[in-house]
Amino acid sequence: MNQLFHVLFEGFPGKSNRGFLGWSSAVLLNNRRFGLFDTAGFGERIELINRLRAQNVQPQDIDFIILSHFHFDHVANISLFPHAKVYLHESEVRHILEDSSVDLVVPVELFHSLYESGRLVILRGEKGVVENYDWFRTPGHTPGCISISFQQNGETFVLAADAIKNLLEAQTGEVWMSTNPEMSRESIKKILDRADWILPGHDRLLHVRRTDHTTFIEAAGESKVDIAFAKDYPNEVSVQIHEEDGGQSITIGVGGVIHGV
Ligand SMILES: [Zn+2]
Repeated sequence: MNQLFHVLFEGFPGKSNRGFLGWSSAVLLNNRRFGLFDTAGFGERIELINRLRAQNVQPQDIDFIILSHFHFDHVANISLFPHAKVYLHESEVRHILEDSSVDLVVPVELFHSLYESGRLVILRGEKGVVENYDWFRTPGHTPGCISISFQQNGETFVLAADAIKNLLEAQTGEVWMSTNPEMSRESIKKILDRADWILPGHDRLLHVRRTDHTTFIEAAGESKVDIAFAKDYPNEVSVQIHEEDGGQSITIGVGGVIHGV
């Protein structure tokens, strides 16, 4: 790994009729010390370690974790890295302590165990530098969201996390799931003003291309998830593709009747 970062998981912009999938982005940072920007969700726990080891990084080698915000699908694996300091913005700490009864995807018990471990480092203000990476506030999705940016090969990369969850949000400025949509729009603008490349919280890497009058945002890859059924599963697997609201959804079912999302 010779770069400043390696994408361990690209996010996936999916939801289902049993809830948000929560397949988020997680990034290995390498700036003399190893760190993580977000840690993915509980379901990715084993695969996260596999992917780190594929980069010759062991869990005990991770010195720091920068958390974009404190939703379960970004923070669930902080306990796997016992030597890591964990950076989180003070506005997010306030959100966890004051709003977790309304923001139900905040794992508040995990915050208390993190706090008691002594590993939490609180970031304050609008922007700064942490572990040699620039961070800046990008509130809206939650009040304490932060993004980080850095230069590589003369271009600016922004790890946006859920300030920009996917391509559509980057293109339209409109977001789904925000505590403050107006702030979200401002945060998206702040990111677009500086980024050549954006890694969203729940989508593949995006390229920002500028002409004299227009800014184009394009996907730079494919966010692909393979779903497997239990080996030799006896019932038929059915897949239906639906058109809805100008988009598409897929229903996957095993046995019995399947219903649209
Ligand atoms: Zn989130």
